[in-house]
Amino acid sequence: MDLWQRTMIRLARSERVTDLMQRHGGATALARRFVVVGGPEAAVATACRLRDRRGISASLSYLGEYVSDPVLIERTVEASLAVSQLLGAAGLDVQVSVDSTAIGELASPDLCRANAGRIARSVAAQPLAGRNFLMLDMEDLSLVESTLRLQSHLLDHGLPAAVTLQARLRRTVRDLESVLTRSPAVRLVKGAFPRGPEDDHQGKAAIERSYLSLARTMLSPPAREAGLHPVFATHDDGLIGRVAGLAREMGVPQDGYEFEMLYGAHREGEQRLRAEGYAVRLYVPFGVAWWPYAVRRVGEHPRNALLLGRSLVRQRRTGVLLLHPDVVRRTSSTVTRSPITRRPLLIFDGECGFCTACATWAQRRLGNADVLPGQRVNVATYGLTARDVSAAAWWIDSAGQVHRGHRAIGRALRACGGWWTVVGWACLIPPFSWVAWAVYGLVARFRHRLPGSTPACHMTSDDRSGRAQLADSGQD
Ligand code: FAD
Repeated sequence: MDLWQRTMIRLARSERVTDLMQRHGGATALARRFVVVGGPEAAVATACRLRDRRGISASLSYLGEYVSDPVLIERTVEASLAVSQLLGAAGLDVQVSVDSTAIGELASPDLCRANAGRIARSVAAQPLAGRNFLMLDMEDLSLVESTLRLQSHLLDHGLPAAVTLQARLRRTVRDLESVLTRSPAVRLVKGAFPRGPEDDHQGKAAIERSYLSLARTMLSPPAREAGLHPVFATHDDGLIGRVAGLAREMGVPQDGYEFEMLYGAHREGEQRLRAEGYAVRLYVPFGVAWWPYAVRRVGEHPRNALLLGRSLVRQRRTGVLLLHPDVVRRTSSTVTRSPITRRPLLIFDGECGFCTACATWAQRRLGNADVLPGQRVNVATYGLTARDVSAAAWWIDSAGQVHRGHRAIGRALRACGGWWTVVGWACLIPPFSWVAWAVYGLVARFRHRLPGSTPACHMTSDDRSGRAQLADSGQD
């Protein structure tokens, strides 16, 4: 099992495999099972549904750990700030989970501290609908010390920061003691990063013994008096039963702790626990960088390899279609938008004169939709990036689905009414849609030669980002 898990962790960290899987649309079954493929609005819409339909809480986490690129780090911070505000606005308890390597630990610990502070302040500023805190995920052993220091730094500044501890690590007994009376919550997991006998308890039984012993400490009177909220994160039904038994024996009521599971990992278990009156939370990852996260889930549960297999086969089968824009962007083309925003939205590249001219034409005909340049929209809300905006047109429909390229244009035309509706439908139905796809591709490629074009129409997205960086540094 450990060999399998290590192999999956290696696969998760392979940049080439990640790039291949995320860019070329093999996402389907595996991604959708474990991840909300979309932006903060989609994630909060999922959290609302979980609460309203199933009485389950959520902890939201933007995907993208182990990064040192400042743009990716900032994207995670902004997505975390956005979900914090949206959760507050939706009247939900505000729990945002982050990995320290997603918010700058690999680039500079100071940057990481500053970013964690920004998120924790935002969480603290939201209305209190339950327990609001920033939950620090725990990564491999090399990061345990720095993550605990980060939590301590935030707590010293009066910010609500909780931490995840791993039962498989021998050092966790000491770590728990050090945070027991300071931390607003501790999330106890078995640990997803196996080491060796020196650092780890070996074997399922030993890890479970460690888990139960730590759980006892988390449920103990000193922890309760200090206000610690114990979170038991596991899908192991036997262990859950034993933790619940322990809590009963120690006189801790059902609402004095909670069980947390990964979104999509154990639906039966979630439902059963809710039916028995336990507090249940789901860890809901969102974003488009789904591969490292999803493949680690395969490492934890070999049966998920079936999903992985299906995704890989699908990718091979769709190999011929890889150039098709919809397939390339499939991972971000099914974002579910918050029910708060119902008007469809056409997003175009406002730096391109030709696109702007087309959008102006569309705006005159679109009574029930908004038309906005991507540069004026917080596109991360829809799981998009500035690069996406400069590469294609996007249509966000009233259900929050995101459509790209000729599919976006088809939907926009359909909404224009009159004969344009027929043209719009044709763009979406084969075989006409194949023609629409080809025409869209040609127009997008040669837009700098079309009427109304500006120099920006000719620039690649890389040119644009280079220019943006120059402008940021005042050299433009
Ligand atoms: P296991 O003994 O691994 O599994 C018990 C049973 O649960 C299995 O037989 C299987 O049927 C089922 N199961 C387990 N995992 C899955 C899955 N992915 N899909 C389907 N079924 C499954 N680890 C860290 O190192 N750091 C963290 O910050 C961290 N955060 C986490 C947060 C949450 C909310 C959860 C639930 C887990 C987190 N983990 C984290 C992962 C954790 O350490 C384990 O690797 C993982 O939960 C599997 O262990 P388990 O307790 O579910 O028990």
